[in-house]
Amino acid sequence: MHEYAGECSKCGKMIFQVNVFLDGVSERGTLLCYECAAKEFKQNEERLKKPQTRRES
Ligand SMILES: [Zn+2]
Repeated sequence: MHEYAGECSKCGKMIFQVNVFLDGVSERGTLLCYECAAKEFKQNEERLKKPQTRRES
């Protein structure tokens, strides 16, 4: 089974579903290829790593 699942919402690369494995990441209805997903996760990680600035009252 090799089904066209859609295209990456970032770069437009075609993403296929092969058996139970998706050739990308589907998150909240948005399809991303692994490359773009990796970039997204890296950005999120960096955002999480940043120390939160405490507002002093
Ligand atoms: Zn992509």
